[in-house]
Amino acid sequence: MTRKLLIAALLFTAFGVATPPVAAEDPAPVLTIPEGAQAGPDFDVLRATEAWVGTLSPEARAKSDAYFEGGYVLQLVDFVYGLGVAALFLLTPLSRRMRALAERPFKGAFLRSVVYAAQYLVLWTLFYFPFDFYEGFQREHAYGMATNSFGSWLGDQGKSLGVEVIFGSLFVAVLYLVFRMAPRTWWIWGTVVSMAFAIFSAMISPVYIAPLFNKYTSVPAGPIREQILSLARANGVPADDVYYFDASRQTKRISANVSGLGATTRISLNDNLMNRSPGESIQAVLGHEMGHYVLNHIYKMLLALTLIALCGFGFINWAFHRITSRWGGRLGISGIADTAGLPLLAALVSVWFFVLTPVNNSLVRTQEAEADIFGINASEQPDGFASVAMQLSEYRKIHPGKWEEILFFDHPSGWNRVRMAMQWKKEHAN
Ligand SMILES: [Zn+2]
Repeated sequence: MTRKLLIAALLFTAFGVATPPVAAEDPAPVLTIPEGAQAGPDFDVLRATEAWVGTLSPEARAKSDAYFEGGYVLQLVDFVYGLGVAALFLLTPLSRRMRALAERPFKGAFLRSVVYAAQYLVLWTLFYFPFDFYEGFQREHAYGMATNSFGSWLGDQGKSLGVEVIFGSLFVAVLYLVFRMAPRTWWIWGTVVSMAFAIFSAMISPVYIAPLFNKYTSVPAGPIREQILSLARANGVPADDVYYFDASRQTKRISANVSGLGATTRISLNDNLMNRSPGESIQAVLGHEMGHYVLNHIYKMLLALTLIALCGFGFINWAFHRITSRWGGRLGISGIADTAGLPLLAALVSVWFFVLTPVNNSLVRTQEAEADIFGINASEQPDGFASVAMQLSEYRKIHPGKWEEILFFDHPSGWNRVRMAMQWKKEHAN
């Protein structure tokens, strides 16, 4: 997970999934407003919220709770497993052998770092395979979320490994160049380098990375495309195209996202949303995504990440020196610039992100709540919004406790989203 966090922080955009556009035979889903949430003189926000949440059957709710709560345990297992893998690299001669293997044929320190990092990323992925298989494939199928075959899942894993080896090795090598050039102030320059990579990754990701996993096409001409473009024009979003990708190749999950930076910024919705949700919900979701764009969330998040990286590197600088000054001889690590210390560095990164989980979740959740409000104002579809919030309960616990939501949720809970929509509906009832 260390590696994943590092790469995720860099690549920024969620990789989606894919199927061929719009299955024409299925009738378009229709929005059904439950009794108790219908507009009327005695409309009550709490009763309407409960009416929407009540559309979830007890079985479906138990399943979704179990899926999401299992994720809490998985985060802990993932963290501990990662520390175990780091120990395997450091407490056996493995890391030192990898360093020797990179040093023998290559003269330049930069190339040696690249080769060490590439070995590390490949071995890490192999050691992590049992966990990735369980979390990413077996469990997704057990909960009826995944649609992919083992072969196609494995193919996607291979592609992400390829991307990680190319960009991850380069990033690590530049970081080690910084360690060698500025052994005392590396944590400041390391932050600059990390942010430059994050910006670069965010820029190229929608154009060069995401299409490796899914097919992206323009939303076909028709009322949905027109509604989305009209929503964009009304909200100052300079979009002349909307993308659509075949997520159903991998999953049943409904989603949409804003990705890219500057000229590569784009809004994409997945085919599950298009095929499984009524038009009112699609408008509500796209309004939300436009909110991320208009409110400059990507830039604000980059700024927050810069602070997190700066403090994180400060912590790592301190911890790395403490550990190597005490056990460096036994571990065979001479200092921060020694590539054999990469597993220790990565383990410290994972400790930092693990401790910061509630902070990161709350940062993201706050932006998501802002985009929700923007989206509902822009689309004026409170029931479409409530309906899609209920659909998302397939993979997100609908009504968590207050602290549970603060600690573990990177989006507002379904219950809070529906309540917000019903409040909006009440305030806008004429
Ligand atoms: Zn969002």
